[in-house]
Amino acid sequence: MEKGLLIVVSGPSGAGKGTICKELLNRNKEITLSVSATTRKPRVGEKDGVNYHFIDEKTFEKMIENDEFLEYAKVYSNYYGTPKKFVLEKLNKGEDVLLEIDIQGALNVKKIYPDGVFIFILPPSMEELKKRIEKRGTETEESLQERFGSAYKEVEYVKQYDYAVVNDEVDSAVNKVESIIIAEKARVDRQ
Ligand code: 5GP
Repeated sequence: MEKGLLIVVSGPSGAGKGTICKELLNRNKEITLSVSATTRKPRVGEKDGVNYHFIDEKTFEKMIENDEFLEYAKVYSNYYGTPKKFVLEKLNKGEDVLLEIDIQGALNVKKIYPDGVFIFILPPSMEELKKRIEKRGTETEESLQERFGSAYKEVEYVKQYDYAVVNDEVDSAVNKVESIIIAEKARVDRQ
């Protein structure tokens, strides 16, 4: 049976990858989202098992030891990781799986799973990126500064991805992501 497509979406904080992934999943019910594990505390409205598997550091480290992650990274002093078993099982069943992860995680996945499609979401401008991070307003001042700083540096990594999509307008950005997925699935070397 043909394997599913691993779709990896990442980009700097505030580029809008979360919004794009949400809309992509709304439109394409057959795509499965990989729910990451994290040691970060839930934000208001976030649900365990839906947005993340919220776990403590000890449990996370145990999972690292047991090789339960496809990749994991420390982002803004919290651990985030992609559960390996879930993702590989879905792909083997022929289902397409979406990972919305940070850049270090995406580049690690690319090394071990180069068959995936790696999509980088770019903000329309750095000015807009700054506005979006501020508007989110869920972060402390220190964490905001940290996010601005790394977002500026992170844009450089676009060169290591397969595709770049500018998020100037959600609908058109999602259209582009969908077109990329269609093209990838039609590739001769994938059939
Ligand atoms: P947030 O705390 O805003 O939900 O996420 C912070 C960053 O961690 C985002 O860039 C998000 O994409 C990334 N992230 C979420 N899950 C994972 C994961 O499983 N692995 C990695 N490497 N990054 C993740």
